[in-house]
Amino acid sequence: MKTLGLYIHIPFCNGKCPYCDFYSLKQTEESMDEYISYLNKKISSYTDYAADTVYFGGGTPSLLGTDRLISVLKNIHDSFGNIQRETTLEVNPESPNCLDFEKLKFYGVNRVSIGLQSANDSELKILGRKHTANDVRNTVKTVQSSGIENISLDLMIGISGQTAESLTRSIEFCADLNVYHISAYILKIEEGTVYFKNKDSLNLPDDDTVCDFYELMVDKLDSLGYGQYEISNFARDGFESQHNLKYWNCEEYLGLGASAHSFIDKKRFYYSRSIRDFYNNKIIPDGTGGDEEEYIAMVLRLSGGLQYGKFRNYFGYDLPRHYIYNAKKLNKTGLLYVDDIGIRLSPKGFLCSNSIITAILYNE
Ligand code: SF4
Repeated sequence: MKTLGLYIHIPFCNGKCPYCDFYSLKQTEESMDEYISYLNKKISSYTDYAADTVYFGGGTPSLLGTDRLISVLKNIHDSFGNIQRETTLEVNPESPNCLDFEKLKFYGVNRVSIGLQSANDSELKILGRKHTANDVRNTVKTVQSSGIENISLDLMIGISGQTAESLTRSIEFCADLNVYHISAYILKIEEGTVYFKNKDSLNLPDDDTVCDFYELMVDKLDSLGYGQYEISNFARDGFESQHNLKYWNCEEYLGLGASAHSFIDKKRFYYSRSIRDFYNNKIIPDGTGGDEEEYIAMVLRLSGGLQYGKFRNYFGYDLPRHYIYNAKKLNKTGLLYVDDIGIRLSPKGFLCSNSIITAILYNE
């Protein structure tokens, strides 16, 4: 039986953050009940796969409350077997008291991801977040006291008014709470968001400043014991996200829920950004995946990079020489390294990963 990663999308949020373009809707008790009933039916319809990682993402999965989450966890167990490696739940720092983490742990949750974004309340206000840094502190403590130790916090770089000092404070805040994993994303202004409409008045730091912040963050996190293992992800040894590594290693995953994406048997497919389409089981094909180009582009996001041995295991043949030849042309730039193990980007290289990957793939 094939073993894959299982992603569950929960498309409910208590309001819309002005920078966010994820699919999410305002929840009601009835709409959450209805969604969970369809989701559970869908989960139960799968009998051919096992899963070793599960990721509840959103939206705000913690809005569901303990009982609904447990009903989904039980169904997953019945259809996909015992989840051996990792079950992650994204949790909103506004509502930790609504969840019984001890119960959730009993039913398999062993990792919690919390959207901190910044430990400076003025920056949180600018981001339109309703929580404070203290709410996050309390949430982390609540989760830790339940016995779930593997906690990840999200940070954001490029917030209006952010400084090197305020970013450093946010990083130290995470380390002081002894979380094991940090994801740090550069703020992107996506079309269709409130930020996009107001982009000229946002007063965001310029690109050079954001690059400086990124490098500062990589160094600071490293000095605090968080090794970089992906462009935006840092972890204490052994606490890299097992589920997300599947995406970057082009391994298979099944996504269930409105707007969830899947990759199985070299095919990509997804549910549209519509709860009704999900209820009507409307699956949209998205072409093939897992070819040489996609694999190279994905693994170069990882600090371990493109490794010759792993490429051979994935494809059954050696990495074609022209990729190595293209990479070697950039060897002296400090943006990447080419050696006997493979090709990998430096932190500076991560900042312009798209153009380096294009150069390696197409000699452009
Ligand atoms: S950022 Fe998170 S909480 Fe805010 S609207 Fe998007 S998914 Fe919801």
